[in-house]
Amino acid sequence: MPMRLPSRTTRIACVVAASSLAGCGVSQQQEIQLGQQEAQQVNAQLPMLNDATVNSYVNSLGNSIAKTTSRADLAWQFAVVNTDVVNAFALPGGFIYVNRGVLSRAANESELGAVIGHEIEHVVRRHSVKQMEQAQGANVGVGLACALTNVCTNQAAQAAIQVGGTAIFARFSRSDEQQADQGGFQNEIHAGLNPRGMLTFFQKLLAEEQQSGGGGATSSWFADHPGTQDRIADVQRMLNETPPNVLANLRSDSQGFQNMKRRLAQLPAPPRTAAR
Ligand SMILES: [Zn+2]
Repeated sequence: MPMRLPSRTTRIACVVAASSLAGCGVSQQQEIQLGQQEAQQVNAQLPMLNDATVNSYVNSLGNSIAKTTSRADLAWQFAVVNTDVVNAFALPGGFIYVNRGVLSRAANESELGAVIGHEIEHVVRRHSVKQMEQAQGANVGVGLACALTNVCTNQAAQAAIQVGGTAIFARFSRSDEQQADQGGFQNEIHAGLNPRGMLTFFQKLLAEEQQSGGGGATSSWFADHPGTQDRIADVQRMLNETPPNVLANLRSDSQGFQNMKRRLAQLPAPPRTAAR
């Protein structure tokens, strides 16, 4: 069942954001504040996977990647949503959410690192903040909040926090996604991870999507990330452009990843949720 955010909460979110974000630029402090507010909502509304082994591994991998970026100073936090739906999302300020469906499909650390590295890049490039800053008009405060949460522009009835998490903040443009792939690719390399995982993971999702004929656990990924075939071609090109001796020195997997996978397999199945 899709999760719905009560409209009262929606209004409060808009008012809070309107008062704190009025003005042209969004400072780092405002960005973090907004991210914290959104993270609180997400944590309360989505089924979170609270398992020490899994969470500590995902945080350690995520931080090892984030610390190599130009925004290493953020207090990055990584959390796992307990759903088989394949998706991941980033809130401003460094709050990254990865769905369990990504963890269960990733075969090695470089595949998971690709998804996390991509989400990190959205934050590094302040993609959602830029959308807020570009909002114009008398209703600028509300506009800012809506650009971020996507709840005001939609009908109240659509004010759903989808399990993929995508309804609570703006969708990114194709070019933002491309930048996040390129940056995510580099982020992996800087963290010592082989970015080939980005290619194999996208290929895997595409195969699953084609097999399911849409409407399966991967459909929300494809709705949020159009042009997956183009992205695969881009990643292939980036791999071709990376010197083989660089790739040869990067790790694809770790004991920590495999321990996390074993732990994940022992946990009760995620609650059943609608794909979208
Ligand atoms: Zn993205």
